[in-house]
Amino acid sequence: MHGRSLLAAGCLECAGAYNASIVGMEREGLLDDPSYLAQLEQNDVLLRHENVFPFSTSLAAFEVRQLAALVLGPIHNLGDQNYHFVTGALDKEPERGCDSKCLFTSLVGTADSLVRPVSRDPAAEKSREARMQVKN
Ligand SMILES: [Zn+2]
Repeated sequence: MHGRSLLAAGCLECAGAYNASIVGMEREGLLDDPSYLAQLEQNDVLLRHENVFPFSTSLAAFEVRQLAALVLGPIHNLGDQNYHFVTGALDKEPERGCDSKCLFTSLVGTADSLVRPVSRDPAAEKSREARMQVKN
């Protein structure tokens, strides 16, 4: 398992916390499509069956601690933190911010006025349709 929880001053894409192309596949519903998954190579990263729930909860806890530090101090900026599950190490790295070509820097401070953070979920729609057919 390669899990880690990463909190960075720049966006998570620039920090390498996720792959934007996989997010696109998820949004299109491909990761819930058995025929799509069946055509992948055996060693494809999408077939690792890793459960990211513990890392998501760990990241949420780090975010709460960073917010508390930001508000309460005495050190208001804890910097980029990278927790490694395998070794238990917590690296503190120099802040590097976003890459110069980052698409997200223009969205800072706009909340959801420019981009809605949610979209259509094909897998949820299929599940709802299946439940409706069972009821009828
Ligand atoms: Zn960025």
